[in-house]
Amino acid sequence: MIWDFKAHILLNVRLRDWCPMKVSKLGLVILILVMQCSNILASPQASSSTEFIEGTIDLTPYSEILVDSDHKQSIYSIQQDATAHLFKPTQEIGNNFGFSNSTYWVKFTIKQSTRQKDPVLLQFANSLIDKITLYLPDGSGGFSIKQTGDHVAFSQRDIAYRNFLFKLPMHQGEERTYYLQLQTEGSMQITLSLWTYKAFIEYVETENLILGFYYGIMFLLMVSAFAFYLKIKDRLFLHYSLYLLSYIIFQLCLNGLSYHYFWPGHPILTSQLTAVSVGLVTIGGIAFSGSFLRIWNTKKSTFFYVFMLVIVLTCIGIASSLLGGYSFGVRLLALTGISLPPIVLIAGISSVIQGYRPAKYFLAAWVIFLCGIFLAGLLFLGFVPHSFITVYAIQLGSTIEVSLLGYALMDRISLLKAEKQMATQLATAYLQRSNKELENLVLKRTQELEEKNKKLNHLTLIDSMTSLLTHNASIELLKKQLSFAQRYKEKLSVIMLDIDKFKSINDVYGHPAGDQVIIGIAEILKPSFREADYCGRYGGEEFIIILPKTSSSAAIELAERIRSQVLDLSVQEIKNTRITASFGVSSFNIAKPDEDLIITADKALYDAKKSGRNNVKFLSSL
Ligand code: GH3
Ligand code: MG
Ligand code: MG
Repeated sequence: MIWDFKAHILLNVRLRDWCPMKVSKLGLVILILVMQCSNILASPQASSSTEFIEGTIDLTPYSEILVDSDHKQSIYSIQQDATAHLFKPTQEIGNNFGFSNSTYWVKFTIKQSTRQKDPVLLQFANSLIDKITLYLPDGSGGFSIKQTGDHVAFSQRDIAYRNFLFKLPMHQGEERTYYLQLQTEGSMQITLSLWTYKAFIEYVETENLILGFYYGIMFLLMVSAFAFYLKIKDRLFLHYSLYLLSYIIFQLCLNGLSYHYFWPGHPILTSQLTAVSVGLVTIGGIAFSGSFLRIWNTKKSTFFYVFMLVIVLTCIGIASSLLGGYSFGVRLLALTGISLPPIVLIAGISSVIQGYRPAKYFLAAWVIFLCGIFLAGLLFLGFVPHSFITVYAIQLGSTIEVSLLGYALMDRISLLKAEKQMATQLATAYLQRSNKELENLVLKRTQELEEKNKKLNHLTLIDSMTSLLTHNASIELLKKQLSFAQRYKEKLSVIMLDIDKFKSINDVYGHPAGDQVIIGIAEILKPSFREADYCGRYGGEEFIIILPKTSSSAAIELAERIRSQVLDLSVQEIKNTRITASFGVSSFNIAKPDEDLIITADKALYDAKKSGRNNVKFLSSL
């Protein structure tokens, strides 16, 4: 279906009649959208001139374009009959020529209505054209000239607006032909429309609302992402906020708002910064996607290298667009920008396949946004015409995208939280287990230690060879018994026993045989005394017998009995030698309570040795 101008006016007027004011404004915007969409679908049919009454009109169907690749034409040559055939209808050759060094001439004829009283505005809806010259016919074959573009100071514009606006003089009822001469190092998109003041003000009001809403959301998201980064120190939020910042700058440049508000006095800067902003948004997008999909963590993956390559190429593009190679740089930047969507998309799909849950929302967000970027890239390269959809696709896509990305980030946070919780649980379980293990180990070690202590105690108290008391234990025991005897005035006797000529037994039969003799004597001693008595190995082959509550005569008697038992001792290894022992006996004397019984018994033993061995001697201190 083709919308011709009259139908458009008719619809517009009807809308105004039927709708309240605000709906009418929105209707106007939607109308332009529908109208421009229809231009994409419509088959070429150029009209030679148009009558302008009120509202707005897209000039695409009424304009013709001449592509002057040699820059030979002038305003005078293009009016000649000889060049008339070089002008082609816009609907036939399109309105988007991508990157081109040619000069473009646009011709359109307007018949102003006799009813038209407002001044008329001509809008060129592409803020990135370097130089635009409008030739206004003066009615007598000559032209007056208006020049603007982003290589021309902002102050030279007819009206301070982000796109290019020209006031067209009033020629009620007259038909005049206008010429535009266009040149740009960037992408050439020609979108012309006519507006009455009234219609334009109403349109701009709605547009301001849309743009304000859009930048507001983006700015808020950027600030809150950055605040979130400061709070939880997750670098992903920093990347997200930087990405949003680059995106806001990119959009401000693209819409012509940065030139209008930030550096209106620096025309050349605008195109350079626009190119840089394309690069920044590519790097921002790659850095953020890399963080989100954890590509920077896996340094040797294919995606890591592809992402790095895009960053390097983008940096080259930025550098060359700033350092003189603008034309090459801006093409490279457009290419890396357009390569971003498919690359991120594939990385996202791969991440989803690998089972990374937040990547699903990431993917959904990007699919929507990437469609917008892709359309914008195609627009920039000249593959699709300049229309409302292609111009605002990015805003629409990106608003949905950033909201979904916010959701994706939240999902990631909840995943991290769950992971953290899991890790805490694991750590607690591990800690509890190791505590238990530690407790068990300590218990085991304590038991072992007690066991060893017992053994050690046993070793210090009990002689390992004879199982009799050790030297020290015997002395301690004697001390105790002595104090008992002193306190309760009781009897106490001590027998010292020494094997006779033991050295020669060792020498003749060997040390192990000697040991057997010592063990044999110990075995004789053990059953020889009462339970209250004590027997110890005092030295190598010397024994002590402590006899509480025992008189000296009873002790001597016992010594005699043992002596005769020793005579009967037979040890396997010892054949022709009789084993004998000598005994010294001493007893506690209340009149001499401090006497050392061992020394006295030892003296008695010495006596026994001296008087021929194998006998018992008693030594009384009295
Ligand atoms: P005396 O009749 O005067 O007691 O002479 P003796 O040879 O028995 O006494 P001496 O003190 O000269 O020698 C004691 C020897 O006992 C010296 C030492 O080598 C030996 N001896 C000490 N303890 C042990 C032991 O546990 N096993 C063995 N086989 N010999 C020991
Ligand atoms: Mg001895
Ligand atoms: Mg001896």
